[in-house]
Amino acid sequence: MANSKNEAASLREILSYEPSGELVVSMYLLVDGLRVTKTDYLTTLNSMIASSREELESNPNLEKAQKKKLLNVVEDIKKYVNDNFRPYSTKTLLVYASDSGLWKVLRLPVIMKSKIIIDPKPHTQSIRTILQNYKRYGILLLDREKAQIYSMYFGEIREYLAAFISDVPPKVNLRRQAVLREKKLLSRMEEKLHHFFKLVNDKTLELFRGGKFDYLILAGKKEILSNFANYMHSYLQPIRIGSIEAEPDSSKSLIQEKAQKIIDKFETEYKNDLVDKLFDEHNPNRLGVVGIEAVIGALLIEQIKTLIYDRQFIKEGYICSGCHYLTIRDKTSCPYCGGKLVFYNDIVDEVVEDALSQGCEIVDIGENERLRKAGNIGAVLRYKL
Ligand SMILES: [Zn+2]
Repeated sequence: MANSKNEAASLREILSYEPSGELVVSMYLLVDGLRVTKTDYLTTLNSMIASSREELESNPNLEKAQKKKLLNVVEDIKKYVNDNFRPYSTKTLLVYASDSGLWKVLRLPVIMKSKIIIDPKPHTQSIRTILQNYKRYGILLLDREKAQIYSMYFGEIREYLAAFISDVPPKVNLRRQAVLREKKLLSRMEEKLHHFFKLVNDKTLELFRGGKFDYLILAGKKEILSNFANYMHSYLQPIRIGSIEAEPDSSKSLIQEKAQKIIDKFETEYKNDLVDKLFDEHNPNRLGVVGIEAVIGALLIEQIKTLIYDRQFIKEGYICSGCHYLTIRDKTSCPYCGGKLVFYNDIVDEVVEDALSQGCEIVDIGENERLRKAGNIGAVLRYKL
C-alpha cells in the first residue's frame, strides 16, 4: 500500500513545484476495477508510451540525450505499473517523474482519462479541482491522558495533525488511600482532565479554523467521548459526524477502517440528498439536467456546477479530434469545426475530465434507483437554462 504520510507530502510538493527547465512526465492511468481489467490498463499504457515515444523522437527541439533520458523515465513508469502497482480501490493512478529523480505516485478516487503529458512542470489542473471537491475528515482519538488527531481523505489517513499529552497522574490503587486523600486526589484528577479536554478542544478548533478538516470523527471510549462532548466548541459540534471505538494508540489501519464506515454513511446520505434535490428542486426549476445528452449539452456551454453520475455508468460516444466536441450520436463530422468524430467505448471519463477542467464539483453515486432510472447521470447548473 502507498505510504499515506508521504502521499500528503508528495501532493504538497507537486502543487508547489518550481520549474527547473527540466521536463516532467505526468502519467494518468484509469485503473478503476469497475471499468477496466489489468490487461486493459496495461494495453492502454503501452499504446500511450508508444505515442509518447513517437512524439519525443520527432520533436526537433529536444537533443538526442534528452530524448533518451525521457524515454527511460517513461520505461520506469511502465515497469512500476507492471511489477509493483496494485489498484485496490484506486480509480486513477497518477505518476509524476523526471530524469533528475522526481518520482511521485498518487492514487485518485476519481475516474480520469488516461494520458501522458510531458511538460516543464507537473500537470496539476485536475488534481487541484479534485482537492477542492474532496471533504477532509479529522479523526480525534482521545483517552484521559493522550489525544491524537489525523486527517483522512481520498479513503485513507493522509496526515498526522497533532498529539497531546495530559499530566494527569496514572491511576492509583484507591483502596490504599485514606478517604480524604482519595477525594483530594480524585478532584485533582478531574481538574487535570478538565484542563486537558479544554486544551484538546482549543487545538482541535484551531486545526479546523486552519482548514485542516471539514468534518470531525471522535474516537475513544463512550464515557470519555460523552464527557468530552461537553467541552466541544459550538463550531465543532455541527461538524461532528460520528464516533468510533478506538484508542489513541490503536493501529492506523483499524482507525481507518472504522472511520471509513462513518464516512461512507455520511457521504452516501449527502449524495442521495443531492440526487433528491436534483430531481425535486433543481430540475423542475431549470437549474438541473438529467440524462447524458442534456449533461453534454450543459457541459459544452460550461453551465455545470455539480456533475452527478453513477459510478458504474459507461456510455459509448464520439469525440471530435479537432475541437474536442462530445456527442453520443454518430454524425458524419463535427457540427462545430467539421473535424473527424472518433468513436470511444466510454466517454464518461471524458465528461468527468472536461467537468474537472471547468472546475465543477464531481459526485459519483453508488446505488441510487432514482438516478439509474433517469439515465445514470445528471448535473446541477450554474444558471437557469
Ligand atoms: Zn470539432
